[in-house]
Amino acid sequence: MGEYRHILLTVDFNSDNQKVVERSKALASQNNARLDVIHVVEYTSSMYPADIPLSDDLAMDNYLVDQAKRDMQKLLGKHGLEQATWFVELGIPKHEIVRVANEQGVDLIVLGSHGRHGLQLLLGSTANAVLHLAKCDVLAVRVQS
Ligand code: AMP
Repeated sequence: MGEYRHILLTVDFNSDNQKVVERSKALASQNNARLDVIHVVEYTSSMYPADIPLSDDLAMDNYLVDQAKRDMQKLLGKHGLEQATWFVELGIPKHEIVRVANEQGVDLIVLGSHGRHGLQLLLGSTANAVLHLAKCDVLAVRVQS
């Protein structure tokens, strides 16, 4: 049996996921591990002024979740991962990724690292936050130098 038994691949749909997905697939195959995939839709409520009714925020969140589910299916199809268990969650990405990893007994989280510097790094990133919050190993795959 390999070192890892259950891998959680994290994907956002804004950047090129190719390298992160391929690295996760290779690791899963080498370790004979289960591979799950997660995307988190960030709450929109905080992006809107308080005088917009809550139902509008909820409608927007639901719309984005539906769209993310379609994007997820496309990504899984593109990479031959149709059989993978996947999660589309609504919330704060770093918290949802770590929550699902804990709940599912994941022993490796894989994410992309965009090589941020300066202010962007100081402000933090999902990769950075997950690295500090996760109870399991975290692999940051460099997607950009
Ligand atoms: P970031 O730190 O925001 O540049 O993102 C780095 C990596 O974290 C991405 O390549 C993904 O692997 C993961 N990630 C970022 N945002 C999300 C999200 N909303 N849902 C799932 N994974 C994410």
